[in-house]
Amino acid sequence: MSARNSSLQHFFTPASVAVIGASHQPGKIGHDILNNLKLSGFAGAIYPINPKSPEILGLKCYPSVLAVEGAIDLAVIVIPARAVLGVMEECAKKGIDSVIVISAGFKESGPEGIELEKELGEIATRSGIRVVGPNCLGIIATSAGLNASFAPVYPKVGSLALMSQSGALATAILDWSVQNGIGYSKFVSFGNGVDVGVVDLLRAWEDDPETRVIVAYVEGLPNGPEFMRVARQVSMKKPVIVVKSGNTQSGARAVSSHTGSLAGSGEAYTAAFKQCGVIRAHSVEELFDLAVAFAYQDLPRSRRVAILTNAGGPGIMATDAVEMAGLQLAAVSPETVERLQTKLPPASNLHNPVDCLGDADASRYNFAAETVLADPNVDSALALLTPQTSTQPLETAQGVAASAARHGKPVLACFMGGGAMTTAIEALGGQRVPNYPYPERAVGALASMVNYREWREEPPDEIERFSADTEVVRRIFAQTREQRRVNLGEVEARQILRAYNIRCPKSEVAHSAEDAARIGDEIGYPVVMKIVSPDILHKSDIGGVRVGIRDRQDAMDTYELMMLRIRRYAPNADLRGVSVQEMIRSGREVILGSTRDPQFGPMVMFGLGGIYVEVLKDISFRIAPFGRRHARRMVDEIRSAPLLRGARGEQPCDLEAIATCLLILSQLVTDFPEIVEMDINPLKVGEPGTGAAAVDARITITEQ
Ligand code: ADP
Ligand code: MG
Repeated sequence: MSARNSSLQHFFTPASVAVIGASHQPGKIGHDILNNLKLSGFAGAIYPINPKSPEILGLKCYPSVLAVEGAIDLAVIVIPARAVLGVMEECAKKGIDSVIVISAGFKESGPEGIELEKELGEIATRSGIRVVGPNCLGIIATSAGLNASFAPVYPKVGSLALMSQSGALATAILDWSVQNGIGYSKFVSFGNGVDVGVVDLLRAWEDDPETRVIVAYVEGLPNGPEFMRVARQVSMKKPVIVVKSGNTQSGARAVSSHTGSLAGSGEAYTAAFKQCGVIRAHSVEELFDLAVAFAYQDLPRSRRVAILTNAGGPGIMATDAVEMAGLQLAAVSPETVERLQTKLPPASNLHNPVDCLGDADASRYNFAAETVLADPNVDSALALLTPQTSTQPLETAQGVAASAARHGKPVLACFMGGGAMTTAIEALGGQRVPNYPYPERAVGALASMVNYREWREEPPDEIERFSADTEVVRRIFAQTREQRRVNLGEVEARQILRAYNIRCPKSEVAHSAEDAARIGDEIGYPVVMKIVSPDILHKSDIGGVRVGIRDRQDAMDTYELMMLRIRRYAPNADLRGVSVQEMIRSGREVILGSTRDPQFGPMVMFGLGGIYVEVLKDISFRIAPFGRRHARRMVDEIRSAPLLRGARGEQPCDLEAIATCLLILSQLVTDFPEIVEMDINPLKVGEPGTGAAAVDARITITEQ
């Protein structure tokens, strides 16, 4: 079956549903699902399946799906796990193409369950049946009046589509949504996700006219690159908001580089989401802060926001939050100020944040809202209100909502307080103006909308190709393996970097003191000398690096001393000489690295060298391959980026050269999946226009 039912249409708009394992007994899941289907107003045929009953809840009951005469679009299975496979075969025979397996007792329950789930997956693939579950809550599709779940509450029709890996969390979310009047188009709890998962649902909802915002709660993703590809495509059409929880442990990994020890799966998800436009929420609370804003309001045209308030304090809090979030306080026009002056008391602040003062009634506040929103310099607004003696929350809510609708500009409200605000907040929600309990949360949602809009308008981040001699790399890797090693030290790593045209200091390995002097003479002093050994990973830790060697005598002495010393510290190390190299005198030291994430594949890291990396973990990541925009952002994103740009009397450095090295690294690790980890530590970066040089590097490859 090539189409494999990719729109998942029968899950959301079936003409008929069978409930396999339907039950008389309230409290049993087989009862609750059947009851939910009846109550939600599903107009199609419902077939309870249970060999022991002639009728359940007033519906004719059948011994098996095969006994049903008409076609069945969707089957919901609610029987013990061990009986599921047999019933799946019957579904296949009946020609059912969509099945929800509610039953638990699969992958989540131990070795037997794992085996059962594997077989379930095989039946699905073989028969072409799409399976949601097992171990899930079920599906809701509000426009079809379909509640094929055992959730105790049913949301109203709306434009959010939610997918959740966790059934328990899904129930909590639903309950909360009903209480807050938040509506859904579709709701899927996919549980263990033996077949239908995040990517399938993204595809199914990509062009779903009922869905404006896709919301997901995920614990892990089986296929990172595919997720990125599909999520990027879907995000171009509608916002995809994800809460990712849990740490997907890939088991104990041998970590041999800085990058390896600094990169957890959390970093990979963060990077991947940035690269494919997915909006990340860090809690379920934030998930809904964002979802409601995106669902209710249009995207702001720019970062320019107006703040309207009846109290100074919240206005200042909002102003701070606006600046922190990278939004801009709109400069209201002189005409606006003039107009505001006509009705606002003299003590009011007529400039953004516009403060109509504590005694503002609805007519004054709404006049200000209307005036500010009419200003062409304003592209969005935050409406803050605190309950004071003359405050008229409900009337104010109505006025604000009307102005928002009239001007087509997004308005987010922050009506602060308890009981006094309840009706007003409901009225705002009814008019699709989201309300937030605190200004920071409203600002967070607005910033997320602006960022998303900007992401959507960016041209694609084209992948650049750099010329490279891949043959050299292949040969060196083969040699390394022949010697039964997986670690490449500086000398070999430098050959690889050179093959990819990353600049490295002139360098040659000396095998005697005289050799060292000769090479030093050729390169020109001062030089740097370093021990060469595949067994020594951190050379300077044991005195294996000396910089600033002045002349030939110094070079000869250093050779003897270094060999002697290292032999004492590391008697078993295989010493292959001392590398004499050009000393790169000026420049900042940064670290570039790469590691392989189990979900997303090769990931590239950037940070400042030294303590910034080790102590402050001030680093950024991207999934390879990426283009120049993301390379630049990696540099910009670290907290210490101002140092690289030349803040406070620091020398600015060649940021473009860093970006280019990051791109080359991205290409190298994409070209060679056998690179498990690597570091260029440090890359020395000179002033703008002077480039960068890799003075040390290490690479670890796989055994085959
Ligand atoms: P390791 O990291 O194994 O201790 P490195 O080769 O990174 O050894 O050298 C340690 C430090 O010495 C570097 O961080 C850098 O500051 C300095 N250094 C090494 N090689 C050079 C060079 N060719 N030019 C200038 N400085 C160098
Ligand atoms: Mg180093």
